Amino acid sequence: MSRPITVVTGGSRGIGAATCRRLAADGHDIVLAHIANSAAAEETATAVRAAGARCVTVRADTSDEADVERLFDTAAAELGPVTGLVNNAGVTGPLGGLADATTENLRRVVEVNLLGYLFCCRRAARDMTALGRGAIVNVSSAAATLGSPGEYVHYAATKAATDALTVGLSKELGPAGVRVNGVAPGVIDTGIHAAMGDPDRPVRVASRIPLGRAGEPTEIAGAVAWLLSPDASYTTGTVMRVSGGL
Ligand code: NAP
Repeated sequence: MSRPITVVTGGSRGIGAATCRRLAADGHDIVLAHIANSAAAEETATAVRAAGARCVTVRADTSDEADVERLFDTAAAELGPVTGLVNNAGVTGPLGGLADATTENLRRVVEVNLLGYLFCCRRAARDMTALGRGAIVNVSSAAATLGSPGEYVHYAATKAATDALTVGLSKELGPAGVRVNGVAPGVIDTGIHAAMGDPDRPVRVASRIPLGRAGEPTEIAGAVAWLLSPDASYTTGTVMRVSGGL
């Protein structure tokens, strides 16, 4: 079998970067998509290549249809047919109640977290169905079932929609030999908390987590890697919660 070729959106930092490194160690070649932080993307790409994998970085906004098409076109042209997709690029906007959220923030969260996932899944569905094999992992959130009151119910809503996408698409694509699963992290120590205005959140909420701490990005990467691996060959339509019991 040739090496898996896997697109990881939001691969420059946080969970996506840990996933790129883990997949490279597992024998994947990587197409790393990110939106702005080229230095972080290059740092992750360097680590991926050091593990012996091929890696292409593509600057693309996943909420932009043309960018997503260019991302997959570049992947196919530079590395070959895409066999894996990790839909991971996501945003929350500032913490707060829905009554205080701006329309601009609501629109951005829905466009990146939901429309972006749909654009990437649609292209992967077309390419992988033609190939007759493939696997998709949609990074969701424990927020999908917790609802995140007072923090970001709009974000939680996009993650619940992601889980519906995972279940439905797994049924559409199963007959074509394409598996679709999700991973729902709890609180993971990445830069997303600083971006939402609360850098100390992973420490602050630790006492509410049954395992007593926030998770590390590598602990999510392990779940993603398993779902993409041959060990998960009979697993589709599931959302694996990796949340320390939250
Ligand atoms: P992060 O550290 O903030 O990193 C976000 C990544 O997404 C960066 O690589 C960023 O690229 C990229 N990105 C953002 N918007 C993008 C867009 N429109 N198009 C392409 N790339 C974009 O985030 P994270 O904590 O690793 O979160 C990753 C995923 O896990 C998200 O879907 C998030 O909802 C989910 N999640 C996270 C947690 C948590 O506690 N951290 C919990 C549950 C679920 P640049 O580097 O170029 O800016």
